[in-house]
Amino acid sequence: MDRQKMISNLKQNFMLKRIHAQQECEDFINSLKSNPEFDKLYSEYTKKQIEYTRSQFEEESLSLKHDVQDLKDKINAYLKAHDIDASRLSPKYDCPLCNDTGVVGGRICKCLLNELNKTISINSSSQSEFKNFSSSDDSSLTANDKKAYEVIKSWCDKFPDITKININIMGGAGSGKTFLLECVANEMLNKNLVVVYKTAFELNELARLYHIGKSYEFGDILNADILLIDDLGTEPVLKNITNEYLYNLINTRQIHKKPTFISTNLSLDNILSRYDERIFSRLANKSLAITINLTSADKRIR
Ligand SMILES: [Zn+2]
Repeated sequence: MDRQKMISNLKQNFMLKRIHAQQECEDFINSLKSNPEFDKLYSEYTKKQIEYTRSQFEEESLSLKHDVQDLKDKINAYLKAHDIDASRLSPKYDCPLCNDTGVVGGRICKCLLNELNKTISINSSSQSEFKNFSSSDDSSLTANDKKAYEVIKSWCDKFPDITKININIMGGAGSGKTFLLECVANEMLNKNLVVVYKTAFELNELARLYHIGKSYEFGDILNADILLIDDLGTEPVLKNITNEYLYNLINTRQIHKKPTFISTNLSLDNILSRYDERIFSRLANKSLAITINLTSADKRIR
């Protein structure tokens, strides 16, 4: 399933969630209306509210506003006297930012992005559960890798109280780099952060589409709370794109103190020869970066 399709499916789910919340609220109000006193107050209130909305730019609106407030006070007094939670008169949405529309200020809301990332993680993983640190099989790890896991796990536990924002995970094929990234994604999603996971290949393609004005997803990636780039070095180096966009991404995120994880088969020296020197200097900056080398060679830790 492609991303657009996932977004439209999720938006549909969000709409259903909204309708459900509104229906629940309406049912509750209807049940209160069986009391004639409440029914009368509430009918007057909704009538005045409509009149007020219609006349907001006219002179009598001030007195209508007063009437609306007066009726609202009476309703609240009634609810209090009958020990009813006043918040139940409004629909209960899960997300206070977007009221479950999935959109805020013309942009995709954090809650929808999180759902999207969960969907992507689930779809891209062979199991329906996220990988997590406790699911790694310690016995198959070298002592070096056990220590590396501890470093990353402790970084996750301390977040956002961290100083290193570029985490480079190096190692050969099958050394568990992707597994480690999935563990990080899992930990960070649990902290309700916007986590974006992309292979370097996908990222390169999104940069290309952005470059020719065909997709703006690259902007979301730039702003993600946590960015995970898997398998750096497997993407083709496109002229005017790969180096430029990668540098822009890493540099901008570094300036805004947003963590970027990179996994790669390349050594730092290989990175220097393959990419722009500026990319290398950002990734190798010891005061901002952690570089770990996984040594469990070609052993699938799953
Ligand atoms: Zn939201």
